[in-house]
This record gives sequence, C-alpha cells and structure tokens, in this order.
Amino acid sequence: KLYNQVQDLKGSIRVYCRVRPAFGTVKKPRCVDCIDETNMAVITPGKGGKDNLKTFTYNRVFGPTATQALVYVDTQPLIRSVLDGYNVCIFAYDQTGSGKTFTMTGPDVFTTETMGVNYRSLNDLFDIQQQRKNMIAYEVRVQMLEIYNEMVRDLLSSDVANKKYPFYDKIRLGTQDGINVPDAALIPVSKTDDVIRLMNLGHKNRAVGSTAMNQRSSRSHSCLTVHVSGKDLTTGSTVRGCMHLVDLAGSERADKTEATGDRLKEATFINKSLSALGDVIASLAQKSTHVPYRNSKLTLLLQDALGGQAKTLMFIHVSPDPDTVGETISTLKFAERVS
Ligand code: ADP
Ligand code: MG
Repeated sequence: KLYNQVQDLKGSIRVYCRVRPAFGTVKKPRCVDCIDETNMAVITPGKGGKDNLKTFTYNRVFGPTATQALVYVDTQPLIRSVLDGYNVCIFAYDQTGSGKTFTMTGPDVFTTETMGVNYRSLNDLFDIQQQRKNMIAYEVRVQMLEIYNEMVRDLLSSDVANKKYPFYDKIRLGTQDGINVPDAALIPVSKTDDVIRLMNLGHKNRAVGSTAMNQRSSRSHSCLTVHVSGKDLTTGSTVRGCMHLVDLAGSERADKTEATGDRLKEATFINKSLSALGDVIASLAQKSTHVPYRNSKLTLLLQDALGGQAKTLMFIHVSPDPDTVGETISTLKFAERVS
C-alpha cells in the first residue's frame, strides 16, 4: 500500500490521513497516535486505554508535526498528470475544525512555508506549463462552484455583485471540452496570482446570501476546477485535463434532536451528498460495474475525475481531541471503506 509507486496507482484512489496537533492545555490524553512508517492511524476509542485500540491503514498517514511541504510531496506527481491530460480530484473530508482548510489552503495568514495544497498545486502547474512552453501551448481556465442544498451555484458569476446568485440544475456529462457546467463563468488564467484572486472573489461571493461565512463554508461544498487544454506545437495533437480542488462541507452529523428548519435541511443534504460520495468511491475501490454517480450533484460534478483513468486523492483529517472521538471514528471508517 505504499504510495511511492505513484505510477502504479493510475486510476486508483489514494487516501492520506492527517492528524492535526492538539491545541490548548487540555490534560486529557490524546486519542490518536500515528505511526508514519507503517501508514497506520491508531486510535483509542474510549475506556480501556492500550487494551482498546483500533488500527486503520491508509496510503499515507501524517502526524501532528508533518509540515505542509511534506504533506504535499506525494501530491505533486498528480499535478504533472493534469498537464499530461488526466483528470484529477483532490478533496478534504472531515468534521469542521479538524484541519481541512489548513491542508487545502493553509492557516488564516500564511507564508510560502505554510501555504497549502491548492497554492502548491497551482504553482507547480504553472511552472510545468512554463517549462514546456516551447513544445506545448496550454490554455488554463478556472471555474469555481458551490454546492449548497443540492444546488450548484457559480461563485465567479459577475451577477453576484448585483445580489443575484445564479444556480444551475443541469450538469452535462461526457462533453468534448470537459466543461460540465457550461453556463458557469470560465475564466482564463496565466499565473497562480490570477487563480488566487478568483478564489478570493469566490470566497467573498460565497458569503453573499448567508448570514455567517463560517457557517456557510462548513455547510456547502466548494469546488475550484482548473481546466487545462494543450496543443502540441509540432504534431498539433491536443490534450485536455482538469483538476478539481474540493473543500467539502463538514462531515459532522447534525444533532438530530436540535437541528430544525434550515439547519436540518442543510444537514440532510450534506449527509446525502457525502454518503453518495462514499458510495461512489467505495464502488470504484471494489471495481463494481455500477458506480452510482447520479445520486448527488457532488458526484455528478466530479464524475469525470472519479474513476476511469482519473486520479483521486482524499485527505482525511482527524483531531486528537477525545471529545470528538465519535466523529473521528466515523471519518476513519468512511475512508477505510474507500481505500
Ligand atoms: P476545517 O477547515 O476542517 O474546519 P481548519 O483547517 O480551519 O479546520 O482547522 C481548525 C484550526 O486548526 C485552524 O485554526 C487551523 O489553523 C488549525 N490547524 C489545523 N490543522 C493544523 C496543523 N496540521 N497544524 C497546525 N494548525 C492546524
Ligand atoms: Mg474549513
């Protein structure tokens, strides 16, 4: 299960598990331990101490001291394959507060050392594009969509400024150009800064129509898609690939007795789409003939980057906090199903 043989894993799904540091001065024992060398996360689910351990194995396990650079090392080969014409999907799954945004984007204020997977991926993508510029003419375009209550919304639409918030019910599949939400804005970019500017705009637009940004961001999925097409300058042949960078809604279960009205509706949609994602990935992992992509907007949107020749990377995050051990175990189990 070692990840190093990246080439051998074409078409498969890899799962990296990251355990974030414990915060504060809590004296409670940590409930998660990591053994990097053996790619196992070991968890103490409750009473019983050392006699009550559960072990989960993934392609990689990163402990609390793993740097952003280290976490990215095994992601890097995927970026090159986007430019070679593969579809790639990188997403972060976990309960709110366990480090999803930290891995994908970085801490609130970040430096070149602490920047996350999104930025590193984009930097590499444009670097490789530069290296190949005498051989292949690439065109890179970006879409940013949000799925909220099973509605796909365009986070880069110029209408958002006018307080309109367009959404699209139709997701096309198997299109020639790979653009499956053709009505959403598709913006040409030529450097990482362009994309960052668009991501910031998207995040600002995401807050429109929701009272609290944090709440919204943990209750909807956001998907930044980088569409790449290239033309070989000598042969004229073309390649096309895309990279989805997905920040999923928090996987925590809404307290059934407390959630009512809008909260309950959101929770129902989130549960539905996350379990649809789990079902798709599990059936791909089992090489099942029927893959149930149609059960949610999320899986439809990502369909071309899940399965087939596509490369999928799921980061799961676990918090060492014993108070959230129930959710932690359900995350670990979710990921075990799919790997
Ligand atoms: P999520 O996006 O899953 O809700 P965040 O990424 O916002 O969680 O993480 C919650 C808090 O923990 C943030 O303050 C974040 O900076 C911090 N954090 C998460 N992972 C790490 C890590 N590996 N190292 C240091 N701080 C982390
Ligand atoms: Mg977050």
